[in-house]
Amino acid sequence: MAEKETIVVIGAGVLGLSCALYIQQHLPPSQTIILAAREFPHHTSINYASPWAGAHYRPVPGSTIQFTREETQAKRTYEHFKTLASHEPGSGVQSIQGIEHLENPPQEYLDPENIRNAYGHLDGFSQLTEEECPPGVKWGVQYKTFVVNSPVYCAYLLRQFVLKGGRTRGYTFQDPREAFHLASAVKTVVNCSGMGFGDEKSFIIRGQTCLVRNPCSMTVTRQNSDGSWSFCIPRPLGGGTIVGGTKQPHNWDPNPSLETRGQLLANAAKWFPFEEGKAGQFDVIRDIIGRRPTREGGIRIEAEKLSDGRETLVHAYGAGGRGFELSWGVAEDVFELMKENGLVKEKASL
Ligand SMILES: Cc1cc2nc3c(=O)[nH]c(=O)nc-3n(C[C@H](O)[C@H](O)[C@H](O)COP(=O)(O)OP(=O)(O)OC[C@H]3O[C@@H](n4cnc5c(N)ncnc54)[C@H](O)[C@@H]3O)c2cc1C
Repeated sequence: MAEKETIVVIGAGVLGLSCALYIQQHLPPSQTIILAAREFPHHTSINYASPWAGAHYRPVPGSTIQFTREETQAKRTYEHFKTLASHEPGSGVQSIQGIEHLENPPQEYLDPENIRNAYGHLDGFSQLTEEECPPGVKWGVQYKTFVVNSPVYCAYLLRQFVLKGGRTRGYTFQDPREAFHLASAVKTVVNCSGMGFGDEKSFIIRGQTCLVRNPCSMTVTRQNSDGSWSFCIPRPLGGGTIVGGTKQPHNWDPNPSLETRGQLLANAAKWFPFEEGKAGQFDVIRDIIGRRPTREGGIRIEAEKLSDGRETLVHAYGAGGRGFELSWGVAEDVFELMKENGLVKEKASL
């Protein structure tokens, strides 16, 4: 019997897990797949972004090529989350009301076409009138969206992959080309390593948030007049609420700042609809520091031919602050790219 060709996916963050599961669902019997990573969902490490994410689905308007591409990935992920929230609540994805309040909206938010493109697909979307916005807010919207308990969702994706026969391997790569030697017939490696391997366009955006026990019934994002952002993101399945958060490019500090925590909670108490109780006090579970693996120009989705074209390295990394909300669309795009490059054939429909 001919040896099965093996596809190796590097990385078990939300991108690697989504890509591995999506590819697995569409593989013909002649191909198999291994997920290899330094960290898996049961690990915690500051350089493993996914378990630290809020995470909510919040559109980002813009008109560059990057934004346009991300919009299509976001829309497909929205539809996927809709299915998960209604059929698989144990996945950690939940439908919820989303609100945005901006005190000083950037130019991209003032172009109606941008807003239509970025928000038009959302159920229950409406722009808030001046009367509906709180004092100081110049731009507001509401819509039906999703919140994701990020550690639960990552564990769910891994479980789906393993239950369907996917193999995993704990491995730290010095170079992605090592992955071609993990099994005897590897022609394709998918690089979902977050930062890439020494890619000069990759950089981190540090985020500090605070996980509290206090429940909140919606996810609210507020842009403050100084350009900083505040948000609350309830984590489904009783996972508390994330209060955030900072966005600090190139900041490698691994330690949470108590002063920042104080500021985040003070803003949250002023602006977000936390349930009453505990006399207005927050019940802090922990501070969170995460590093969003970001790339100039957005996610790299690209097929790189190696060894005179006999091997292909497919890149899928650099999601920045949007890895969850783009994840399923990215997985579909990676699979399409693999098909275009003749790396996988879709299962024959019976
Ligand atoms: C505070 C915070 C809040 C966020 N909020 C949101 C949000 O609300 N919505 C949203 O969509 N996103 C949010 N994000 C962003 C999101 O977390 C990231 O975009 C996403 O987790 C990136 O996933 P990834 O799979 O690319 O990378 P990672 O999760 O970092 O995974 C990388 C994987 O590659 C492996 N790897 C790396 N190098 C090697 C190597 N040399 N050898 C072997 N394996 C390797 C790692 O072990 C890991 O398994 C937030 C992030 C932070 C920090």
